[in-house]
Order: sequence, then C-alpha cells, then structure tokens
Amino acid sequence: MLAENLKLVQQRIQAALAKRKNKELLTGNDVILVAVTKNHPPEVITESLALGVQNIGENRVQEAKHKQEAIGKQGYWHLIGHLQTNKARQAVAHFDLIESVDSEHLLAAVDKEAARIGKVQDILLQLNIAHEEQKSGLEKEEYLDLLPKLSQYPNVRLRGLMVIAQKCDDIEETRPVFAAGYRAFARLKQQFPKIDLLSMGMSGDYPIAIEEGANVVRVGTALFGQRDYTLKF
Ligand SMILES: *Cc1c(COP(=O)(O)O)cnc(C)c1O
Repeated sequence: MLAENLKLVQQRIQAALAKRKNKELLTGNDVILVAVTKNHPPEVITESLALGVQNIGENRVQEAKHKQEAIGKQGYWHLIGHLQTNKARQAVAHFDLIESVDSEHLLAAVDKEAARIGKVQDILLQLNIAHEEQKSGLEKEEYLDLLPKLSQYPNVRLRGLMVIAQKCDDIEETRPVFAAGYRAFARLKQQFPKIDLLSMGMSGDYPIAIEEGANVVRVGTALFGQRDYTLKF
C-alpha cells in the first residue's frame, strides 16, 4: 500500500516538474518529498525509510521525541507545525530542519538553544500568504522587519521559506499563493544567495506547488491514508 502510494506520488511529482516554467534556475529540478507521519504509529517511519524516503515530517515536538525513542533517529527530520518558544530546546534536539519559524521571539529562542548545544540549526521562515485565520506564519511587515536582524542570530542558518495554502474546493485557487511564495523566495535569494529550500504543497495541492517552483513538498494523507487522531503520544 505505502509502496504503491509512494510510486504514484513520485510519478505526480515528475509530471508536475515537467510542467514547471523556468523555475529551475532558483529551485532546481529535484523535489524533496517529506513524508508527513504525524498521527501515525512509529512503524510508518521505519517503512518509509526502508522505501528510500529520507525526509520525515512531524508537527509536534513531543510526538517526534516519542517516535525517535521508539525507533531511533534515522533520516532527516522536519518540524512543520507551530512551535512554542518553551519547546525550542526539544525542537533543536530532535529536528534537523525547523520549517515553522514564525516570529523573532521564536527565532531568538531557537538560536539560544542551538548555541547551548553547539549546533547550527537549519530553519525556514514560514510566511502567511494565504491569510487563513487559523494559520500561523509571518505577515509581510513582520517578515520584512525580521530579515535585517537575521545576522544577530548566528546559531541559525536560513535555508529558505515555507508556505501553506488555504484549503479550497478548486485547487487551482492555490496557484496564486504558491506563485507569491516563489516570488518571495526569488527576492530573498538575492539577499541570501545560499538559501535553497522552498517548502510548499501538501497532499491536496503539491503538484500545483511544484509547478509554481516548490522544491520541498510535505505529503501525509496521499502516502499513509487518513490520520488516526485517537493515537496518543
Ligand atoms: C499535516 C501537514 C501536512 C500534510 O498534510 P496532508 O494533507 O496529509 O498531506 C503538510 N504540511 C503541514 C504544515 C501539516 O501540518
């Protein structure tokens, strides 16, 4: 089941890449597939790794910690959910990439915790482009204020941006959001030439995100089916 789903997702990724228009220069021709394993048992991570999926996405620090204790930490772990400042220490301990940095306050906390253990923590800044009420992410003004301050936080390394589109009936409606994400990435790369990751797209909309320039997609349901919210970690 997972093997078949994975094959289908990989085919759709390739098809979307073929439709992409002139975005290779900035985000390349490879897409990192992050298997989002939240609310699934630890075994699905082991199965994913065995099938060659190296990138694992979790949205809660506690759940990721529990799973790493159960199966060991293999692969490259992405934190994709909102992070509270008081969990920064554990996030830095358990994740290779924190995709959801959405305030200077959080950035400062991550920097401090990374310094404490002698790590340089890779991060993405999460932008709120879709403006859906419950979604976190930096607003444009906050983001523009934050950029000049990044150099004050030497224990974080900016790798790029993360964007979540709104939920909608017609996925074509997500396209302008992803296009805006790509434009923001292009501008940011002028300032920070080393950034290399643009994380956009989930099960419902990842082909559109890739067409618009994403090189990281975060896919859960299309790989593992519905999540089981009764699982407790
Ligand atoms: C849960 C989650 C995903 C994966 O969602 P699916 O629709 O199951 O693919 C991707 N990104 C974020 C930020 C999430 O919280």
